[in-house]
Amino acid sequence: MTLINRIQMIEQNTFAPLNRVYSSVPTGTCEGCTACCSESVNISFLEFSNVVQNGLLKLEPHDRAALTKRVLSYYLTEWIKPQKCPFLDDQKRCMIYEVRPLPCRLFGTATRAAYENNYRHIQVQNLKVAKWLAQNEKIMLSTAVRNKKIDFCEAFIPTETLDEDSIQGLYDQLINLDGQLFFKGIIDDSFMNENLVNLTLAYLIADHPNIITMEQLYALKCEIAKR
Ligand code: SF4
Ligand code: SF4
Repeated sequence: MTLINRIQMIEQNTFAPLNRVYSSVPTGTCEGCTACCSESVNISFLEFSNVVQNGLLKLEPHDRAALTKRVLSYYLTEWIKPQKCPFLDDQKRCMIYEVRPLPCRLFGTATRAAYENNYRHIQVQNLKVAKWLAQNEKIMLSTAVRNKKIDFCEAFIPTETLDEDSIQGLYDQLINLDGQLFFKGIIDDSFMNENLVNLTLAYLIADHPNIITMEQLYALKCEIAKR
């Protein structure tokens, strides 16, 4: 089953529980500096299907073309330089703001302790990825990429701050929703730990399997990182 087939199997009413999770995230006032939009965020499959059905498919053709270029550029060069999220348009606005994933909604709502603790986990994971790439692909991540960190935001004033357990509780709900897709046979394990850029690129090129595949793009990405 193709990625497009899987997304098409998800009906609009399936997004209702996802929107309830989103509704429970505290809101707040934000300066809109986009400092937090500096990575490819993790995303559940149900969230990605929502991004496609209620975001990507509603974009004008020229916006979709511009997004495709930015997503491709991000993917191919993410191991050599830190970048902004490719969903930011030329006016620094999120192209999928209404359907943005949970990590984007949570930014600024965590206590400083919860934020820094979570970042320590992320950095441990990043080091593991760097080690794996060095051992298996002979690729050395640039220092800027290895040490990249999005700083805690002092400017966002949330209506309520969330501790680690509350944040984990929200992610657990997304895992349960994806679990339902798993038991219906819509997804398998390979979709359990994905990020927005990789899935978007896979979706955008899925219409053109005779032009390029994700395997060919991965090979090109490795080649660029070794130059
Ligand atoms: S949440 Fe903070 S870092 Fe993100 S755009 Fe708002 S003010 Fe900037
Ligand atoms: S998806 Fe939108 S809100 Fe999330 S990081 Fe990208 S630009 Fe920012």
